[in-house]
Amino acid sequence: MTARPVLVLNAGSSSLKYQVVRPDTGRSLTRGHVERLGSDEFAEALRTLSEELAREGIDQTSLAAVGHRVVHGGQQYVSATLVDDDVLAGLEELVPLAPLHNPPAIAGIRQAMAAYPGLPQVAVFDTAFFADLPPAAATYAIDAELAHRLGIRRYGMHGISHEYVAQAAADFLGRPLGNLDQVILHLGNGASATAVRAGRSVETSMGLTPLEGLVMGTRAGDLDPGVLLHLMRVGDLDLDELDDLLNHRSGLLGLSGIQDFRDLVTAVDGGDASARTAYDVYCHRLRKYVGAYLAVLGGADVITFTAGTGENVARVRRDVLAGLDRLGINIDPERNDVRGGPARISTDDSPVTVLVVPTDEELSIARQVAALLS
Ligand code: ADP
Repeated sequence: MTARPVLVLNAGSSSLKYQVVRPDTGRSLTRGHVERLGSDEFAEALRTLSEELAREGIDQTSLAAVGHRVVHGGQQYVSATLVDDDVLAGLEELVPLAPLHNPPAIAGIRQAMAAYPGLPQVAVFDTAFFADLPPAAATYAIDAELAHRLGIRRYGMHGISHEYVAQAAADFLGRPLGNLDQVILHLGNGASATAVRAGRSVETSMGLTPLEGLVMGTRAGDLDPGVLLHLMRVGDLDLDELDDLLNHRSGLLGLSGIQDFRDLVTAVDGGDASARTAYDVYCHRLRKYVGAYLAVLGGADVITFTAGTGENVARVRRDVLAGLDRLGINIDPERNDVRGGPARISTDDSPVTVLVVPTDEELSIARQVAALLS
């Protein structure tokens, strides 16, 4: 694997995260975050970035490539892909599947092509880890012809993180990935659960879009589709209002007015009733998914918590897995009092091992870029 560093760009709707990382050692040479960008400000952001990297003494002629996080690869892009004009056109065609997430990634790729014309640009997809989800898990039970024509199926998201964490959990346990059945709970601002058998995803909670599944900062997760019909018919919401409600004003924020989990916990401790409800709905949904995925796998060897909330909020881990000893899950309260990790938080004799494993999406991207280039 190349020792030359990879510049990893993660362009969100209003921010640009970057990191220069060596894929072989995982060493990060620098990282940073440019916030509150308008869509036409990416060019400026990348120019600033290049100057910033120079100031920090990063030799940009030594870079192996630029790796880009792209949320939705649709059915075409099922692994890391070298970007050329054809691929860019293909990514444009996928925008309807991810209207909030793919356009900034495409803008980032275009600008990086201009800023670093000599470097390979590689797209790494959040959906790729789920490309071979079993059809029974990937298929929505709607009109099959219509679904086929419009590409409606479950694609899954956060795959870059789930794939990385599955391997990191196996490494931490010193066991081959191929021998493990795992449930991975990625709990950040967005949140998703995945069942992994022998390193391959067999079920995941996000679907056509990142709206399905767990309760998130501003997204409801699972919802009776009849609620949408009701909101349109009786609540008089139009498409844009529904889109805004579902993406930006639901989830923890919609229930309690609080999006950030740190603030939510503070409010719960202060006796705020709506924060308590939000917390309980969040944990209950997670617990349902743990149970479902244990059934999908026929029991698991490992359950792993990752991302901001998963890595840092011990009480969520405790409350989600409390009282599940009949399912072979025994948390050790003292071990659970951990932030970060990797760490084992189950008891030594717990049939299911429970871990906290920090995710590292940038390193995962850099490694996928290096693997493609070699
Ligand atoms: P994303 O990458 O989706 O923005 P993160 O993985 O950074 O998400 O997680 C963000 C969430 O994690 C926020 O709700 C934040 O409150 C929570 N979080 C991060 N660090 C902590 C912490 N030290 N204690 C409690 N919650 C935390």
